[in-house]
Amino acid sequence: MIFAFFILGLIIGSFLNAVIYRLKAVESLWERSHCPKCRKKISWHDNIPLLSFVLLSGRCRSCGETISWAYPLTEFFTGVLFALVASCFFVLGDATTYLPTLFYLIIFSLLIIIFVYDFQYMEIPMLIFWLATGISILYYLIIDWGIFQSQAGGFSLNLFSGVLAGAIVAALFFVLTYFSKETWMGYGDVYMGFLVGLLVGWPAVFLSLTLSFTIGALFGVGLVLFSRRTMKSQVPFAPFLIFGIILTILLPEIFPKLGSFLFYM
Ligand SMILES: [Zn+2]
Repeated sequence: MIFAFFILGLIIGSFLNAVIYRLKAVESLWERSHCPKCRKKISWHDNIPLLSFVLLSGRCRSCGETISWAYPLTEFFTGVLFALVASCFFVLGDATTYLPTLFYLIIFSLLIIIFVYDFQYMEIPMLIFWLATGISILYYLIIDWGIFQSQAGGFSLNLFSGVLAGAIVAALFFVLTYFSKETWMGYGDVYMGFLVGLLVGWPAVFLSLTLSFTIGALFGVGLVLFSRRTMKSQVPFAPFLIFGIILTILLPEIFPKLGSFLFYM
């Protein structure tokens, strides 16, 4: 079952690559894929996730242009994330797990688009941001309403917790951006800060931001040590925020004990 989700992730990952490229190029999403250099259409058997990249040794069949490693990497990590979501949330015999599974598959897919897009173009695709925000609010309304009706634990306002955490992080990031004159982070990160809070809620948002800043700092130090970049080089920040979100959502599911330790320290 987990393996089926991995394969589904590879296929969705291939679709996400197409979305990322076409968001930038403003092309129709339903047109067949073509090589960006020679513009020759790619046949279906040269468009199989991971496998085609290996078989063609990373080159276009007609013009020999090298294909970016970003494509198979995106496919592979989408596959891995889909498998993780399935193992954390999905139980075939329990229909109540279907909605959370679907929600996290969609949200993680949208986060992967923002991750790769910001990494390549240093810009947040706002359409994807609004989609993720809208879908999260809708999901919270549905589960909050379910909890409210069952009266099991009284109120559990996921939406309230998410919007509160999101507003606080967005305000903090806005201050950092404004006073650093966009040298520490950009206005796109203010929107991303809201999404971090909305997705992980209060108080997990502290864990999420700590993870993001730690991974970001390690990456920054590595970049200075192993390349010619200086501390002043601009590094997109959204990928680190997304690492933080995904780890904060998945870690407590993978390690329940670690999760309760981190959340109730
Ligand atoms: Zn070509």
